[in-house]
Amino acid sequence: MINLEYTEHLVITVKMINSDLFELVLERNGLVFTPGDCAAIYTADDKSRPYSIASGSDETELRFLIRKMEGGEVSPWLKDRHPGDTLRISPPFGWFRPGQDIGEAPFCFIATGTGIAPFLSYQKTFKNPPACCLYGVRHEADAIAYASLHNYCPTQLAVSREETAMHHHGRVTDLLDRLPLDPQNHYYCCGLESMVNEVGAWLEERGIPLMKIHREVFFHG
Ligand SMILES: Cc1cc2nc3c(=O)[nH]c(=O)nc-3n(C[C@H](O)[C@H](O)[C@H](O)COP(=O)(O)OP(=O)(O)OC[C@H]3O[C@@H](n4cnc5c(N)ncnc54)[C@H](O)[C@@H]3O)c2cc1C
Repeated sequence: MINLEYTEHLVITVKMINSDLFELVLERNGLVFTPGDCAAIYTADDKSRPYSIASGSDETELRFLIRKMEGGEVSPWLKDRHPGDTLRISPPFGWFRPGQDIGEAPFCFIATGTGIAPFLSYQKTFKNPPACCLYGVRHEADAIAYASLHNYCPTQLAVSREETAMHHHGRVTDLLDRLPLDPQNHYYCCGLESMVNEVGAWLEERGIPLMKIHREVFFHG
């Protein structure tokens, strides 16, 4: 049965990860979702944007990873919420289902920034890890849950705006040669549009069928 009810959720915490990245944690209130789902979150004056659920489907809390967009109508407002505030959210929705409904086929995750959210939801829900995860961030401090991802599956981090001791300095697309390539594999790309398009084109050029390349764009550009 499709849930059409909008629900109210208490804010448990707004945890700053750095100056423009935060985790919004809400009471779950029994909301049912599938890893990969988004929910539209509403402001007090009824503006809304979709955000991907980052928590596991058995967690008692609902988590979102959000980048505050300077001048934005919704994300700065969400950053300023406090414990005890109430937020209205839509029923979960989506078609991006990392690692699901593909039988035994191997699969890979490729994310930029908060595009890691659906993959964290997958990680917290399912025991079967992807063959690899490529994860691009601007600064090392933006890499959410890198250690636990790295324990879960082979994870390569690309840090574009600073040099670090351990990670590739540059864009995540520089690491595409490290993807296992096989037409049986599924590839899940999430985050910045330019990355999603570039990865899709790169995979297609190497003979990966379109239906094995799954895409979710959070930010255009
Ligand atoms: C399916 C889906 C899932 C999403 N999930 C997440 C998520 O989990 N976490 C998350 O943080 N976001 C996510 N987003 C993005 C989110 O929905 C909003 O678009 C984002 O938070 C900005 O909304 P806003 O109201 O703050 O800014 P807006 O009022 O929409 O725009 C603010 C300003 O930012 C500018 N801008 C737009 N894109 C960019 C860019 N790429 N770089 C710089 N400036 C830009 C605009 O021109 C505008 O001036 C998702 C989007 C989609 C479509």
